Amino acid sequence: MSKVFVIDTNKQPLNPLHPGRARLLLKQGKAAVYRRYPFTLILKCAVEQPHLEPLRVKIDPGSKTTGIALVNDGSSEVVWAAELMHRGEQIKRDMDKRRALRKSRRQRKTRYRKPRFNNRRKRKGTLPPSQESRVCNVLTWIRRLMRLCPLGAISQELVQFDTQALERPDIEGVQYQLGTLAGYEVRAYVLLKWNHQCAYCDARQVPLELDHLHPRSKLGSNRVSNLVAACKPCNQRKGNQDIREFLKEQPQRLARILAQAKTPLRDAAAVNATRWALYERLKELGLPVECGSGGLTKFNRITRDLPKTHWCDAVCVGRSTPEHLVIVNVVPLHITATGHGSRQMCRMDEYGFPRTKPKGARRVKGFQTGDLVRAAVSSGSKQGTYVGKVAVRTRGVFNIKTAQGTVTDIHYRFCTLIARSDGYSYHFRKETALPPAA
Ligand SMILES: [Zn+2]
Repeated sequence: MSKVFVIDTNKQPLNPLHPGRARLLLKQGKAAVYRRYPFTLILKCAVEQPHLEPLRVKIDPGSKTTGIALVNDGSSEVVWAAELMHRGEQIKRDMDKRRALRKSRRQRKTRYRKPRFNNRRKRKGTLPPSQESRVCNVLTWIRRLMRLCPLGAISQELVQFDTQALERPDIEGVQYQLGTLAGYEVRAYVLLKWNHQCAYCDARQVPLELDHLHPRSKLGSNRVSNLVAACKPCNQRKGNQDIREFLKEQPQRLARILAQAKTPLRDAAAVNATRWALYERLKELGLPVECGSGGLTKFNRITRDLPKTHWCDAVCVGRSTPEHLVIVNVVPLHITATGHGSRQMCRMDEYGFPRTKPKGARRVKGFQTGDLVRAAVSSGSKQGTYVGKVAVRTRGVFNIKTAQGTVTDIHYRFCTLIARSDGYSYHFRKETALPPAA
């Protein structure tokens, strides 16, 4: 288990606890459960001037999954980790569906009007809804963590490549072979620029080396504009010839390679707008924000011998990553964004006609769809205990989605609330955790 968050009775965040200590506090009646996910205790007393160890929250934003990790820079310990699954694709699908329904309805109800275009105005920096949701998901979780533990700094992976490291011309031969950080970034950049195939024979799925167009022995530079990806046979055939000499039989290929070598990889600095938007909004939280590059993350992860998971990538973001990480029994919490229901007033059939009655009240007998409940049914055919997310019905008879499947028609009297719906669902998956150290 990862560590347990704890706040005092005035909701002041304290240092996270070992799960064993948390269990003891609960047993002695000194604390109560404040939240299930992430597991948080609330003490029954106030703590005056606690000795707080500030944590660093590290983020590796992705389009489907974002890794989040809490690292104690002082003790190099990874305190907590999570993987946040976004719902950008679902939002895109829903909006496409809504657009189609509105279009067909308009076509049915109104006379023909010429389509108009370019008649919308968007504020600068507006993101499309699917991307906005990704940024908001991450911000929501950083704000939540700020309330649950003492955060002192933020690290975010901002760009894929550190372009400054690429400009450094003083990288020597061996450094290209996965040596130093700069060599690492250069190698990854050049391979991506040349589409992971040999520039001379278009071979794919073979080990590629970096080749100098103008050879080193003839004072060619180490800049990325002088490098291509080449397979081993081609590289050896070329030897220390100049590119013009080597490809004099294939003038077309020569021209293409020379042109491509000069153009820098587009968008190498700004991979996507979402990351920059996230960066701008993280700065507003009032904590120092450190930025890292994707190349640095990968370098950190491999030199620290960690597997490629989203949360391990998050742990390795930025230059602040400690040299020897202490990762003991960290099991990442899997968080899936589920949204907060739909704004549609009733469901539609495939032709856009209302299929159901208008929506009823959101909350029924104190429960809301998405709440986590425990139902202990004492008698009848549904006898048993069920734990899961509830779907409410106005009649007061609910469906509960458990791990084994959905149980229908459970009366609200049998249900007790475990956690309110907060737009996310949670589970732990053991296989993404690190295996225990031998
Ligand atoms: Zn080749």
